[in-house]
Amino acid sequence: MQITEIYKSLQGESTRAGLPCVFVRLTGCNLRCSWCDSEYTFHGGRKMTSEEVCDEVKRLSPNGGLVEITGGEPMLQERELVPLMQQLLGTGYCVLLETSGERPLERVPAEVIKIVDVKCPDSGEAETFHIENLETLTPHDEVKFVLSGRADYEFARDFTHRHRLEERVNAVLFSPAFRKDATGSRDSSHCLLDPQQLAEWMLADDVPARLGLQLHKFIWDPAVKGV
Ligand code: SF4
Repeated sequence: MQITEIYKSLQGESTRAGLPCVFVRLTGCNLRCSWCDSEYTFHGGRKMTSEEVCDEVKRLSPNGGLVEITGGEPMLQERELVPLMQQLLGTGYCVLLETSGERPLERVPAEVIKIVDVKCPDSGEAETFHIENLETLTPHDEVKFVLSGRADYEFARDFTHRHRLEERVNAVLFSPAFRKDATGSRDSSHCLLDPQQLAEWMLADDVPARLGLQLHKFIWDPAVKGV
């Protein structure tokens, strides 16, 4: 499969934020979100077998732990990815899969924790979520919305209510988008939507979701990759 990078860092998002995690970042994406911070994954990378990927994961985290499969859109390489996820699970890792949910998810192994990033209007990729994927969600999965403004917030709030997401998954995450050109200082002024504003909207509407901040962007320079 085509891999952009494999590295160890702290998990920046989801209910596992703050925990050590090995990231396996696959090359290629079929979407073009306006705020995408991973455009460097669209092309390039190097071919690796699943054995080579597993060996690198073991080298970085020999005692097990979290492995996140991300991209790009990892499910574009489903044919090779599913056996890799099975192999990692069989070796004792807790496997997270970050995906837009644009591709069908029914062949993802049940033990894998899916973190499904449903695209909102300001991303420019709304309506790409494959709605049948709602039936593949399990109580250990998570659904994330990355928000740039009020229209995105209302979309996420209404989608959550309409599909009763809080009853389907472990967590519904509302996360402010970061500016693509953010560099240097690490604070919330780089968010496209002020986290305080988002918090106030969530409290006012009593939304059954949790506010998520991209922890790694407050620890390291937001422009730095591989951290
Ligand atoms: S799905 Fe992810 S990698 Fe693809 S364009 Fe959107 S944010 Fe970027």
